[in-house]
Formats: sequence, C-alpha cells, structure tokens
Amino acid sequence: MNKNDLIHILATPDRLELERIRGAAEETLLRCCGNKVYFRGLIEFSNLCDNDCLYCGIRKSNRRVARYVLTKEKIIEAALWCGEQGYGSVVLQSGERCDEKFIGFVEEIVAAIKDKSRTPAMPEGLGITLSVGEQSEATYRRFFAAGAHRYLLRIETTSPELYKRLHPANMRLPDRIESLNALRRAGFQVGTGVMIGLPGQTVEQLADDLLFFRDIDIDMIGMGPYIMHHDTPLSAWRDVHERTAADRFDLALRMIAAARLLLEDVNIAAATALQAIDPEGREKALSWGANIIMPQLTPTEVRHDYQLYDGKPCLDESADQCRSCLQIRIAGAGREIGYDSWGDSRHAINKR
Ligand code: SAH
Repeated sequence: MNKNDLIHILATPDRLELERIRGAAEETLLRCCGNKVYFRGLIEFSNLCDNDCLYCGIRKSNRRVARYVLTKEKIIEAALWCGEQGYGSVVLQSGERCDEKFIGFVEEIVAAIKDKSRTPAMPEGLGITLSVGEQSEATYRRFFAAGAHRYLLRIETTSPELYKRLHPANMRLPDRIESLNALRRAGFQVGTGVMIGLPGQTVEQLADDLLFFRDIDIDMIGMGPYIMHHDTPLSAWRDVHERTAADRFDLALRMIAAARLLLEDVNIAAATALQAIDPEGREKALSWGANIIMPQLTPTEVRHDYQLYDGKPCLDESADQCRSCLQIRIAGAGREIGYDSWGDSRHAINKR
C-alpha cells in the first residue's frame, strides 16, 4: 500500500467501498492476529504533569485540576484485581515527570506488581505496559529491568508544523522520535499513535503518520479521536469545529482499518476516546481491525481528575461493572476474550 491508497481509505465518500475496506481490515485482523480481544487494565496512577501540551486537560498550567498520586498500595491492589479477573496485563499511565522521586516510584510499583502477581495461571506475572512519557534511555532501561516489557508513547502527529502548534517550545518532534528509538534499544515492545481530527490536520498528514508507524516498525498502536477539553488553549482555536465529532469518529475508524491493512500483525487498541463520542465506539473499533481494549481500573474517587478531554466515559462505573459490561460488548461483536495471557502482538512475537 502506498500513500495514495491510505488517503483513499481515509477519504472515500463511497459508503459501499468503505464497507468493503472495513471487511478487508476485519478479515486481515482475524487472519493475522486471531479472534481474541486482549484486555489491559488501565491504571491512571497520577495526574501530576510537568508538560504543557496545548490539547490536554491535565497540562501543567491547568490550575483547575485537583492533582493526585495514588499510593503504592492502591496501585498494587488495582493491578492484582486485574490479575484475578484474568486480564493478563496492566497499563500504568500518568502525567509526565522526570524527577528521581517519580522514576524511583514507577520502578518500585512495577517490581512490586511483577512480584505479587505471579500465580499458577500466570507464572511470569502480569504483563506490564508503561505510558509515562518521554524519559531518558537510562530511565527506560531501569523500567525494563524492573519488569515492564511494553511502552506506549504516542507521537501525537508526525507533521512538524502541527506538532509545533500543539506543544510548547521545549517539546520537540525529533526528541519524541528519538524516545521511541531509545525504548526499542532498552528492550521494550513499543507502541505509538496519534490523535485523529486535530484542528488543521489533513488526511495527507494522517497517511504520513501511518507510514511512520510502518517505517519505525512499531509493535502496537493506540490512537483515537481528538476531543476538546474546555480548560485548554486548543479549545479556543477557531478551526476546532472544522470537523464534527461524528466526522472525527468516522476518521478514527478509517485510521484503524488503514493501520490494520498496512501493518497486519500489530496490536491495535480500541481507544477510550472513541467511546466518549459513541457509546458503542470501542466495539465498533473491534470490527474495523482493533484487538485490544483497556478497561478502566483507576479508582473512581480520582477518575474525575484524570480528564484529558471532555466527556470521558465510565467515570463512575466500578471496575467490576466495567468488566461485565465489556464481556457483553465483546461477545456481541462476535469475538472472544483472551484471558490469562499477556497478549503480545504477533508482530513482536514474530520478531523474536
Ligand atoms: N503523559 C503520557 C501519557 C498520558 S496522555 C505521555 O505523554 O505519553 C495519553 C494520551 O492521551 C496522549 O498521548 C494523547 O494522545 C491523548 N490525549 C491527550 N489529550 C487529548 C485530547 N484532548 N483528546 C484526545 N486525546 C488526548
């Protein structure tokens, strides 16, 4: 597939053609990855952040957010619950900090979760994915040594101009690309992704994003629609309403299908942001080529304070409720849940 093919997938107005594309993406998924949907329990363990991304609700300059860090005990408790449900993996996500206190804390919780989650069903413990932003290679190596083996760092956009408009001057696209390379060198399976439907973003740029995923040989993808947060500078952008929520949702599904057709055997997450636009957003993503779902494990008392965008779904559902709701939704999509397994991407497994 070349750039024009990708642009065609992202832009064709022909609904019948689009349904054919969706079917091909689903068929590729089933052929290259199988029928199973894997869970990664998501623990948003802190919203303290030193960055100031112009789109993000927990950016440093947003003084209206009550800041929190979950205790080590709470984080471990949520992770072990996840293991008991047979989810197989957790994602530890937070705002971005690079101080030693933070790095040591992450190292400690990773090691503790690894240690405490070993069971007869999962002798190697839970699979641990980290999503704590740009760090030095030395830090990435410490996280890997502690027991994490996958890392998510979205590139956000590969367009240098758009990247500059979305971030403060101290954040640079080349640094973020270098972080992805450093993660790989440190031994991680690496995931990246972009926001879809950003103000001023073109389908040509999104096609370039997909080619970037291929060129850096990514193992996993997490991407979803951009959704405004009212307390961010980006919410004031005049052209923000260029695309409606329905259009951004549609574009996100097309991106998932295009990524599946282009990359075949990577893991692709059905992002929670899809569900913020359409209550069935994540199930729909499954039939467009996604195979990963990240159920909320963040304790409900702090979930309200981890709002990257407006209208975050499932704010008050308990982890238990999320679980039964997801089981029904996945069966409804004709798929099976992959219990008690890390569910690494075939792409990463085939590389070994
Ligand atoms: N701080 C970490 C991870 C937390 S943010 C990091 O920088 O990697 C996780 C992702 O949420 C970001 O990568 C971004 O793509 C997404 N996000 C942030 N604000 C958003 C918004 N307004 N709409 C949609 N997605 C958003």
